Amino acid sequence: MSYKNSEKLYKKGQKHLVGAVNSPVRAFASVGGNPLFIESAKGTKITDVDGNKYIDLVLSYGPMILGHRNKKVEKAIKKALKNGYTFGASTKNEIKLAKIVCDAFPGMDKVRFVSSGTEAVLSALRLARAYTGKDKIIKFSGCYHGHSDALLVAAGSGLATLSIPGSKGVPKGAVKNTLIAEYNNLESVKKHIENHKDIAAIIIEPVGGNMGVVIPQDGFLNELKELAKANDILLIADEVMTGFRSKFGGAQELFNVEADITCLGKVIGGGFPVGAYGARNEIMEMVAPLGGMYQAGTLSGNPIAMASGIATLLELKEQNPYGKFNEIGEEIENYLLKSAKKYNVDLVVNRYGSMINPFFTSKKVTDFKSAQTSDTSKFGVFFWEMIRNGVFLPPSQFEAWFLSSELSDKDLEKIEKAIDKAMCSVSGN
Ligand code: PMP
Repeated sequence: MSYKNSEKLYKKGQKHLVGAVNSPVRAFASVGGNPLFIESAKGTKITDVDGNKYIDLVLSYGPMILGHRNKKVEKAIKKALKNGYTFGASTKNEIKLAKIVCDAFPGMDKVRFVSSGTEAVLSALRLARAYTGKDKIIKFSGCYHGHSDALLVAAGSGLATLSIPGSKGVPKGAVKNTLIAEYNNLESVKKHIENHKDIAAIIIEPVGGNMGVVIPQDGFLNELKELAKANDILLIADEVMTGFRSKFGGAQELFNVEADITCLGKVIGGGFPVGAYGARNEIMEMVAPLGGMYQAGTLSGNPIAMASGIATLLELKEQNPYGKFNEIGEEIENYLLKSAKKYNVDLVVNRYGSMINPFFTSKKVTDFKSAQTSDTSKFGVFFWEMIRNGVFLPPSQFEAWFLSSELSDKDLEKIEKAIDKAMCSVSGN
C-alpha cells in the first residue's frame, strides 16, 4: 500500500492551511503518521488519493448514516441545485424538514436551523439563559459540545486526543459560569445544585460519543431530568451525534426521556452543514423574531442542505435500520472481544446501537476518567493495522466509530479479518 500522494498533499497543505487540516482530529496527531487525503466515497467505501479503498467507519463523524452518495439523497440535491444555492429568504423545504424533525422529538414544537452543531449548542445555551433568567450551566466532563468559549472546559473529542486542557484564547469570564459534573454521577450534579442557585441548564450528550462511547447507566438520564425539573433547571440534550442515529427520535426515544431543549446536527444535514435546536413553544418563542433572544445565520436553512436533510431523514424512516445497526454492532463488538481474548489483550468495548468503541484497558469505562485509562499507544498500533487492512477508523481513541445502513456481510467479514490482524499487532505477536 502506498500513501505517496497523501504524503505529498500533507506537505503541500501545511503552507496555507493550519496543520494542513480544517479540523484538528484530521491531522492524525494522536495516532502518529501521515494523515490520509480523500479523493471520493461511495456506499460503504472511501478512497484515498493513492487509490487505497477502505470500509468507512468514520462516515464524516456520523452524518453519512446511509453510506456515501445514497441515490435518493443525491437526486434530491441535484434537483435543489437547479433552483439556486441560497436566497436569504425562506423556502418550502425548511418547513418540511422542520415538521420531520419536530415529529421525531415529542418535546419539540418548534425548531431553528443553523449551520453546525457548535452553533446549535451555543444558541441552546443562550436560549436556556434567556428563558430561565439564570446564568450558570452544568456540563459533564468528557462531553464535547462544539467549540464555543463557554463549553471548552473538560471537553472530549479533539481536546481529549490532543490533551489540551480547555483551549488558549478562552477568557476566564467565558467559562466562569460553566460547572463540571461527572458522567453517570448524579451526586456530582446535586452538589452543584446545592451550591449554586442560578443554574439555567444541564447539558449532556445522552450517549457520550466524544470520550469514546460512554453509555448512561440505568436510570441516569431520567433521574437527571427529574433533578433538573425539581430545581427549575432546563435539561439540554445534545443529540448532535445521537439524533436520528440512536433511534429516529434520538437517544431521547431510546431512553424514554424528554429534554427541554434538543440540539441536532450531523445526520439531519445528510452530509451538508446543518445544525438545529428546538424545544416546546413557550421556550422557542423567546427566539427572535418572536422574542428577545437574538440568533441568526446567512446560510441557515440553506436550500441544498435542507434538500439533503429531508431526503436523508425520509430514507432513514423508510429503511428503519436501527435493528440492523444493533445486529451489526453486536457482531463487531463480539469480534473485538473474541480477538482480544485470542491475543490476550486487555479490552473493554462500549457500544450503543451504531456507535462503538474499543478501549485498551481492563477497567469498566463509565466516564471520562475511566476512558482515559485506555492505552492510547495500543490504539495507535490498532488504528494503523486497520488502515493497512482496508478499514478507515477515526484516528483517535476518543472518537466513536460509526456504522452505516449500507454495511454488507462482505464488509463485516473484511472488518473482522482486519480486527484479527490489528489485535495480533497490538499484542506484539
Ligand atoms: N455536539 C456533539 C455531541 C458533537 O459530537 C459535536 C461534533 N462532533 C458537536 C456538538 C459540534 O458539532 P460541529 O462539529 O458540527 O460544530
